[in-house]
Amino acid sequence: MPRSPDVLPLSDAIGRRFEYLRLSLTEVCNFRCTYCLPDGYKKPCQRPAELTVEEIRRAVTAFAQLGLWKVRLTGGEPTLRRDFENVASAVSSVPGIRRVAMTTNGYRLAERAQAWRDCGVNAINISVDSLDPARFAAITGHDRLGEVLRGIEAARDAGFESIKLNAVLMRGVNDDELAAMVQFVTTRDLSLRFIEVMRTNDNTAFFDRHHVAGQSVIDRLEAAGWKRLPRAAGAGPAVELGHPHAKGRIGIIAPYSRDFCASCNRLRMSSDGKLHLCLFGDGGIDLRPLIAADDPAPLITRIRAVVGTKAPAHRLHSGNSGATPHLASIGG
Ligand code: SAM
Ligand code: SF4
Repeated sequence: MPRSPDVLPLSDAIGRRFEYLRLSLTEVCNFRCTYCLPDGYKKPCQRPAELTVEEIRRAVTAFAQLGLWKVRLTGGEPTLRRDFENVASAVSSVPGIRRVAMTTNGYRLAERAQAWRDCGVNAINISVDSLDPARFAAITGHDRLGEVLRGIEAARDAGFESIKLNAVLMRGVNDDELAAMVQFVTTRDLSLRFIEVMRTNDNTAFFDRHHVAGQSVIDRLEAAGWKRLPRAAGAGPAVELGHPHAKGRIGIIAPYSRDFCASCNRLRMSSDGKLHLCLFGDGGIDLRPLIAADDPAPLITRIRAVVGTKAPAHRLHSGNSGATPHLASIGG
């Protein structure tokens, strides 16, 4: 992607470049996914206020001045924010931001897909962990598969440039649906992402019972004629596969695979303005006071300094998943 010549790339000590910000808009969620918030979202006694639309605009402007051009709106469930469309419009209007993506559980997608597209969202990821209605309800706590599938059709009609379905594959829960999910994207121009269950502080027992290694999925796909696609420049850590007879593509997100962190190109900001250098890090760096000051220079200097300290890799292999209780807390 072209960048203004006076912007030094935002990079860390081992030369990884950061052009992608995942922005959590809220940690609140209405679903109860078994691997994420099995008991539903519980409001802590003191929940910090979410960044306002104006604070988000200022923060994203600072990141854009550091060369970031892609922002993903996530959460929790980002669309639960009443001002979601104002946020999407504000982010997509920031000079330098060329890609605004969102990740959603599909809530209200069937009715709002066109409105979100009209606010400047170009890319959408929709979580669908099962194509079986009863199983979908058991995983998410909501009997809404039909509604989510209608939402996917609405997203296709709305003309998003990219539509991806996210599926967390879990042993003994939905791993027998691999072929059905692959078939779903074989006949449709959609991408599917299989995500390995990630261990967080709150789901260690669940992880031990249900984790499926991404490599085993890649092996099964390759045996069925899927081929690894060459890595595009600046691509993130997903392994992408295509098949000559399939309309869609498949990506595998396997954080436990070797070298997963080597291609890390993303930063995260929590809904209360903390910068997280890794999903599995020890905590966030509070940028809110600098965002509130409305002077971009100190904010930009601070972001650059903090990013320089990013650790080369996570510590999942030694059983350390950092301080993250669940992915809803900092935006998965
Ligand atoms: N609520 C939205 C949704 O579910 O799409 C956005 C936030 S959710 C945290 C983002 C993605 O993270 C979803 O695709 C979800 O399936 C995935 N996710 C959440 N917890 C996870 C975990 N422990 N391991 C792997 N993926 C997880
Ligand atoms: Fe909510 Fe998304 Fe977590 Fe499911 S994965 S509980 S939809 S934040």
